[in-house]
Amino acid sequence: MRIDKLLANMGYGTRKEVKGLLRGGNVRVNGHPEKNGKTHVNPEDDSVTVMGEEVNYREYIYLMLNKPGDLISATEDAHDMTVIDILQPEDQVFAPFPVGRLDKDTEGLLLITNDGQLAHRLTTPKKDIGKTYYAVIEGVVTEEDVSKFKQGVTLDDSYITKPADLNIIKSDQVSEIELTITEGKFHQVKRMFEAVNKKVTYLKRIQMGSLKLDPELELGEYRELTDEEIEYLM
Ligand code: URA
Repeated sequence: MRIDKLLANMGYGTRKEVKGLLRGGNVRVNGHPEKNGKTHVNPEDDSVTVMGEEVNYREYIYLMLNKPGDLISATEDAHDMTVIDILQPEDQVFAPFPVGRLDKDTEGLLLITNDGQLAHRLTTPKKDIGKTYYAVIEGVVTEEDVSKFKQGVTLDDSYITKPADLNIIKSDQVSEIELTITEGKFHQVKRMFEAVNKKVTYLKRIQMGSLKLDPELELGEYRELTDEEIEYLM
């Protein structure tokens, strides 16, 4: 990869600004000053420093966010803050985007990456990737609902959902459940409960494929995935 592209990707400025950095003798490759932006470097093997500081180049970034209920799952929005707005600038330079969408008022696990292939694999309906939600429900959730969800319920647009796994944690006037679905229709969990005449009053995603929400993450906090978590997702 060209060194000027690498530095621009890493947020060292526009190509023009990076050219200035190089011309000023601020960039070294394997210890030697490099002034030519066209020079190719191998990010895996070459050591690149800018003003003595090592450039930790990588192509992809994988972040796990515990989304709070006031951010939009998008890269930009005209009115509201997005899940990208709250990232540190050093993470934003990778141009990451959220994998799939959570409603504005839904909390919990959101994967944010710039790896388009992984995002596609996790969201394509063909792959049946499980997404598990914890929810608080207004109304008594029953074993009948469990079997209805197993068979598939008919949503308000006549779509019949694929088999879903409903676990009742607490069955009362206000119930608590965990639900695993393998598709991602618009407002799907809320609409599935509407189909059995109940209302979701709180919704939080706790797992996506093999990736579990880190219980250490407070709402609005995020961290990079570990190498192991990335490997399991691949
Ligand atoms: N189902 C919903 O209804 N909302 C979400 O945010 C995710 C799944």
